Amino acid sequence: MHDESNIRMTASDPPVHPAAAGPPAANTFPIGAVMATLRKTMPAYMQPLVDQMGGEGATPFHILIATILSLRTKDTLTAVVAPRLFAVADTPATILALGEERLAELIYPVGFYRTKARSILQICRILLDEYGGRVPADLDQLLALPGVGRKTANLVLTAGYGLPGICVDIHVHRITNRWGYVQTKTPDATELELRARLPPEYWIEINRLLVTLGQNICHPTSPRCSVCPVAWACARVGVTRSR
Ligand code: SF4
Repeated sequence: MHDESNIRMTASDPPVHPAAAGPPAANTFPIGAVMATLRKTMPAYMQPLVDQMGGEGATPFHILIATILSLRTKDTLTAVVAPRLFAVADTPATILALGEERLAELIYPVGFYRTKARSILQICRILLDEYGGRVPADLDQLLALPGVGRKTANLVLTAGYGLPGICVDIHVHRITNRWGYVQTKTPDATELELRARLPPEYWIEINRLLVTLGQNICHPTSPRCSVCPVAWACARVGVTRSR
């Protein structure tokens, strides 16, 4: 059971928009009803790249490398570059054999492609030396890999292995704060808040649903609140301009 009961009104209640009422206390936010609405409405939009890959049977190694490539890079570009790399090399041993110059060439022009090429090679070396060429299914072991932060590690666990995790990227951080569901300054703090408060049944899918909402409707500047399917629940914290 979640908090849908909190949004029921009696006949005498005036219809107060949440934005006018200010941020709701987090424990009164109707997360169950909001997630149900997003489950129904978000499939109509283009899905985030890494989730598409997870759905198409990509290995945890593919998810790991594609997520690293996607950092500070548009999904549309990663969608071209990741398959181009995997067509040439898609295991730790074959990527390591490419060497830094060739790998950088193959992943150009993703953001920070030289740094990412170095990190990917270091990761491949560690996977071969310490994990028999497999990607570990453990948050702490993933976080110990070079260039792997909490977003990437959680995405490998959820999209790669189907294990519980909450992948908080800029979209999840921005939107859950706009809703008033959390009040945090950084994605890492948002992840900790969500781990304490978000019902486990939503952990894996919140990233896919909120990245889709963020890419299509709840943009960083001037979100499209007039067409947002969860506007009825959103406190619009910090939103000064919208469409
Ligand atoms: S688009 Fe507007 S109403 Fe919808 S979640 Fe974002 S800020 Fe809230």
